Amino acid sequence: MVRRLREAGYEAYWAGGCVRDLLLGRTPKDYDVATSARPEEVLRLLPDAIPVGAAFGVVRVRVGEHWIEVATFRTEGPYLDGRHPAEVHYASAREDVLRRDFTINGLLLDPLTGKLIDWVNGQRDLAERRIRTIGDPQQRFQEDRLRMLRAVRLAVELDFAIEPETFAAIRSLADRIRTTSWERIRDELTRILSSPRRAHGLRLLDASGLLAHILPEVAAMKGVPQPLKYHPEGDVFEHTVRVLEALRTPTVTLAWGALLHDVGKPLTLTWDGRARFPGHDRVGAEVAREICSRLRLSHQETERIVTLVRDHMRLSDLPRMREGKRRLFFARPDFEELLELYRADCVASNGDLTTYEWILTRCQELRPEDINPPRLLTGRDLIALGLTPGPIFRELLAAVRDAQLEGRVHSQREALELVRELLRAQEKPHPGSNSPSEPPGEVRTVP
Ligand code: ATP
Ligand code: MG
Repeated sequence: MVRRLREAGYEAYWAGGCVRDLLLGRTPKDYDVATSARPEEVLRLLPDAIPVGAAFGVVRVRVGEHWIEVATFRTEGPYLDGRHPAEVHYASAREDVLRRDFTINGLLLDPLTGKLIDWVNGQRDLAERRIRTIGDPQQRFQEDRLRMLRAVRLAVELDFAIEPETFAAIRSLADRIRTTSWERIRDELTRILSSPRRAHGLRLLDASGLLAHILPEVAAMKGVPQPLKYHPEGDVFEHTVRVLEALRTPTVTLAWGALLHDVGKPLTLTWDGRARFPGHDRVGAEVAREICSRLRLSHQETERIVTLVRDHMRLSDLPRMREGKRRLFFARPDFEELLELYRADCVASNGDLTTYEWILTRCQELRPEDINPPRLLTGRDLIALGLTPGPIFRELLAAVRDAQLEGRVHSQREALELVRELLRAQEKPHPGSNSPSEPPGEVRTVP
């Protein structure tokens, strides 16, 4: 493709992140070509190209599995709102490099000769593993505030340092991050949390001053004391950093859940001889929901993150639960995430993994069909018994499920027998027992 553009008399290079990643020996996430050809000319020369941001001079070309973006050299500016350039002009290769954010992202590579074009000392910063803005950091961050968060994200993903002047500029402008869209902030945060260096990422977000402005609820964990006996590691923030550190290849929702699992602690801190956090899981779930909504996380992700926060303490009760209840817990779609959060939570505090090991062994002893066996009865079976659908259905089916998971009923026949018993018990109720308002899980077989 570069050859085709070149043969037609245009300049064309690999540009930006893909050159950086190739030089680092990493697999580029996407490939970008920068060219002197205008989009109309690119479209004419490459028949399968499709315009994407024609106004910005970008077209997309499919090469095998990949989409390659071909962008016409451009300059941008002035930036009036801290987010978008007011104007975009076609420009020279050099001007196109100078509008880019960091020196390591400002390299051009000629794939036909292997020659690198480096107008910004990008190779030196790559070799010394440093993130540095192209030009004056104050000005570049004021133009586009998201670049501050990109600097942190790149430092975390690449395991680079942020050059001191660049870092100082972030610290002095951190409060301006609030003018960028929450969606873009969320995407950068998710990438930080998805990196193996996510714990370092949280420390860097804090040290840069960005955390206080994008996740003040998390920054509030700093200095919140915890009882030494359970938390020798220190305050709630330090604990959270270590939980992130302990996670093993988490999903996005687990990484967010871990970041927020104790977000209720600053709000529930009380003193009673020692620090206590009554209801911090419930309060934390509410705070997590607000954060997810602010960051425009999807409905599904939000529900998963909120339940992880709400239930993160419940695993320590598993050994004392009734078998049926426990198996219902094992069958939860988020059980694996909860278990890994629980493990990381233990590793990051007093390190006691006894309960974790117990749960793991118990899970391994059970076959999938023990944890989530096919149901013995459905609503249809109850209708066939002559019952009228209503709230009682849910109650009866839950009682049957519970009995099945506890191994008290094994067949449809036994399940129907249990239903009849429960109905008989309901016909002559003792005061206050088996009333429809009682939680279904507690309906027991009549001896
Ligand atoms: P990755 O693809 O791994 O996220 P990347 O550096 O390729 O990293 P992209 O968002 O794909 O990031 O951007 C491609 C290139 O465009 C960057 O390498 C950089 O040169 C330039 N760029 C991206 N965002 C900005 C920005 N906010 N300001 C200036 N230049 C930018
Ligand atoms: Mg890229």
